[in-house]
Amino acid sequence: MPDPNLIRLSQSHLNLLSICPPKFQQVYLDCLGSLPAPEKQDSMQWGNRFHLLMQQRELTLPIESLLATDLELHSSLTALIQAAPELEPDPHIWREAEHCRTLSMGDFLFTVIYDLLIAKTNKATILDWKTYRQPPKSKNLALNWQTRLYLYVLGETSEYEPEQIQMTYWFVKSGSPKSMTFNYSQQQHLQTEQELTVLLADLTTWLQNYQQSQIDFPHQRDCQKTCPYHQLFSDKDRAANIDPEIPPSIAEIEEVSI
Ligand code: SF4
Repeated sequence: MPDPNLIRLSQSHLNLLSICPPKFQQVYLDCLGSLPAPEKQDSMQWGNRFHLLMQQRELTLPIESLLATDLELHSSLTALIQAAPELEPDPHIWREAEHCRTLSMGDFLFTVIYDLLIAKTNKATILDWKTYRQPPKSKNLALNWQTRLYLYVLGETSEYEPEQIQMTYWFVKSGSPKSMTFNYSQQQHLQTEQELTVLLADLTTWLQNYQQSQIDFPHQRDCQKTCPYHQLFSDKDRAANIDPEIPPSIAEIEEVSI
């Protein structure tokens, strides 16, 4: 059992923290996050249904009732299975949907949930279903903390060498399904570890400052010129009454969260 005093962090936390510390404070510490727009809520609900469908399929539970009421769900599943033969169950290969792993690092506990993990003798593949229409650029997805944390945690918590691990995203709602695969290496593993160490050291300092002296999380040095919103965060009371639109770089990051 993980120590209950550890601070739990997910890839979503890391993405927001690394891009915009003031927004991280606003959402997670000041609890001033805003609800998604209605059209985004519909999309999120469809995404949740797709994830449930894929989980039930892996557990060999009935999926007919889910498919019967949603033609798009049906066609997306059919197209995905055609495009990804590895999704057909193989009794000789271990696999699990919604596979959860945790990893502690200092005062923090990372939690990852893989939509599907396929573990062969010499190769492990993390699969992730993305249900928004427009896939992001591969370069941005490679840098996203979901990709980096998911690969890192499996490297740290399994017997696999980094070179034996890969992660594949399937974009199931973009017309015909598209995939992006990211291989992993020892060098990437070390780099991720270094960046996590720096990020957690910063977070520790910012949390102490915030809790002991009410000092706000700092802005990044390299984005203030291009961010039209950073002034909104300079006055905490104003920020409480304003729902600042999200700078484009953050919007892109949030797109790839679950
Ligand atoms: S300048 Fe904008 S994007 Fe950058 S840290 Fe500040 S609020 Fe966030």
